Amino acid sequence: MKKIILLIMLCLAVPADAGVYKKKIKSKVKYALKQTKGKLRTIKHKQINKRKKRNLTKKTKKRIIAAHKYLAANAPHVLEGKQKKGYEVRVLLEKLSKPDKNKTWTLKLESKKGFIVQQSEKHSKKILIRNNSIYLSVDNNNLFIKTATTSPRKINGNSIIFSPLSNYSVLNGTPYEGYIYIYPRKNKAPCVINKINLDDYIYSVLRSEIYQSWPDEMQKVQAVTSRTYAMHHIFNSREKNKIYDIRSTGAHQNYKGYHPYTHLRKAVQETENLILTHNKKPALTMFDICCGGSTPANIKGLNFDKAPYLARQQSCNYCKNYNLYRWNKEINLNEFMNNLKSHKKLSNYISHIGKLQEIKIAEKDKGGIVHKLRIKGSKRSIICSGRTLIESVGDKIKSLSFNLKEIKKNNSSKNLLFTGKGFGHQIGLCQRGAYTLVKKGWDFKEILSFYFPKTKFAQINRIKG
Ligand SMILES: [Zn+2]
Repeated sequence: MKKIILLIMLCLAVPADAGVYKKKIKSKVKYALKQTKGKLRTIKHKQINKRKKRNLTKKTKKRIIAAHKYLAANAPHVLEGKQKKGYEVRVLLEKLSKPDKNKTWTLKLESKKGFIVQQSEKHSKKILIRNNSIYLSVDNNNLFIKTATTSPRKINGNSIIFSPLSNYSVLNGTPYEGYIYIYPRKNKAPCVINKINLDDYIYSVLRSEIYQSWPDEMQKVQAVTSRTYAMHHIFNSREKNKIYDIRSTGAHQNYKGYHPYTHLRKAVQETENLILTHNKKPALTMFDICCGGSTPANIKGLNFDKAPYLARQQSCNYCKNYNLYRWNKEINLNEFMNNLKSHKKLSNYISHIGKLQEIKIAEKDKGGIVHKLRIKGSKRSIICSGRTLIESVGDKIKSLSFNLKEIKKNNSSKNLLFTGKGFGHQIGLCQRGAYTLVKKGWDFKEILSFYFPKTKFAQINRIKG
């Protein structure tokens, strides 16, 4: 019995549009009420086809009434079809490593008042789950859900949507506004995606990408940068028909869900819909923590024809008071080689070089960025790219702008000494530099024009996607 009470299926033809949903659910509930209690005489019979009338069993009617009452009491916004205006962004939260053969319950999803589950945006059938905690698992292209009191149940669909009946849902302990989508994907890693209003997303990103204590003007600089960056990815992913727009990690921009620092909403509201464009499209507004005084126009490997706004000629020294403007790091040579060995691209090669003889910078551009390292052994040499280096040693080195030398510690041990500049990739907005400019009295538009020359300010709704 508990199972029946907890899991109420709304067998209604409910379109994705919430306004129509409201209208239809009301008419059906009125019909159900009329049939069972005879109270509502105003029902428009024509709205319900005769076949469905016949098929509405007493049990279904009771379920519909119970579901409607529950929604009215706990989540009126669902019935009223209230949706936030503006763009939505689809953020990849997690790629589950592989289809979960053992059906372990890898995801825990919570919402104070339960969820509505839908098989896809186009699918009309919706399931109401009143439990505030559910467990999800993907097994060979099938999603299974269970609650503390119910046994596992298969949910069909390629893009299953979980809409919380409260303001946010909590996924594995992290709260997210918007909707959670699960893509089970046959023979591919299942994806977990958060579809969220763009400005709610920017509000969350601000907390992850800069300090919440930084001045309002700096929050505005970051809000426009992050909004533009997201819009650039939204345009690209929709052109390529991808299932998500942007990643939630530093590979794109960090997004760690909902947070309580409500003062950050101000920067989002005061820059509402504002982005930077080039050729009438959202610019790729890259940003990092500290540029170390670099001149991005001298950095090799970027397509400046496509993105001339990243080829800034003027160097930024406004970040020079930051402690990572210049940095030194010593890494034990054995530890360094073990780091490289653990990288999947190098593991097969490193063990065949023989006795290590030398590690040297093999290619550096005018901007000071190291693109290649040569690792010379007694039998052979190998080349390690800058990206592989960063992926291997993690945040032990802060940027690829460095000089390198070997130093002897004692008879048995050697260290590598990295002498570097800046923290990050050194292209686009330098956050520490922008922070100094805010302190000097520059406004957010002046700062963005300095770091992204040749871009224009535009309103999102004037851009065609
Ligand atoms: Zn700088």
